[in-house]
Amino acid sequence: MPIYTDNPLELPIFQFESLKNISGLAHAVSTRYAPKRPMLPEVQPATPGDYRLAGRSIYIQREIITGRRSELLTALGLDYREVQPNLVGVHQMHTANVRSIGKEAYGANLNWDNPIPECDGIITDCPGVPLMTIHADCPAILLYDPVRKVAGTLHSGWRGTVGKIGLEGVRQMVTNFGSNPKDILAGIGPSIGPCCYQVGEPVLSEVQRAFGPELSAELLQKQPDDSFHFDLWQAIYQTLLEAGLAPDNIEQSQVCTLCQREHFFSYRATPQDQRHNYGQFMALVMLT
Ligand SMILES: [Zn+2]
Repeated sequence: MPIYTDNPLELPIFQFESLKNISGLAHAVSTRYAPKRPMLPEVQPATPGDYRLAGRSIYIQREIITGRRSELLTALGLDYREVQPNLVGVHQMHTANVRSIGKEAYGANLNWDNPIPECDGIITDCPGVPLMTIHADCPAILLYDPVRKVAGTLHSGWRGTVGKIGLEGVRQMVTNFGSNPKDILAGIGPSIGPCCYQVGEPVLSEVQRAFGPELSAELLQKQPDDSFHFDLWQAIYQTLLEAGLAPDNIEQSQVCTLCQREHFFSYRATPQDQRHNYGQFMALVMLT
């Protein structure tokens, strides 16, 4: 599994093979692990494997989250003092809403106090603007157009997936930035996999409505106990093909956050009595 530590802080991060060595692009999906060579000793977790880059302010101090985000940006070779004020976050609501953002992001601090409301995806063509989505079993979809120099990240849980947020993300790249879908590279990040993602209603009906009977029969896999598992990865892959992407340009991480709970935060792996304060990880993409 491509968790890399070949960065100045030796911070373990997941990266897509197809996006890793592209000049002009920085990206990462965070793991549970703190850097081996911390830049800010005061933001390291008390418990190993609890390096959170997001969380509710009643449970974790804002200074700690901000400091860890500075470390992540630094690990990616970026000057955090310069780019952190440009960091864009979204107030994720499990929608299929995507926003394209331009120069108004510079210095606007659209992450803590002022995330883009009711939105689960962001696209930009502005260099130096890190885009961030937060995850805990739902996949990130990273998008990058190397021709038009456009990048984005989408949060695609089951609602976003049946709402085809991937299609909307690509549509905005085409409409707002002149992308050709055939040029776009995509990565489908770590999330709960078809091995573990048991679903009931209303997910079953919504998948059938969104994908039709034939494809739904593949996406909803009947288990020996008559329950169903939903294959989010394949659903997103099919959506990206529908959007016009080339099959070879879509990389699936194939990493299940529930199976690999020691590496990634997982909502479903969190015991019921601790779910009010479950851990989350971050997907980040930036044009450099
Ligand atoms: Zn699994």
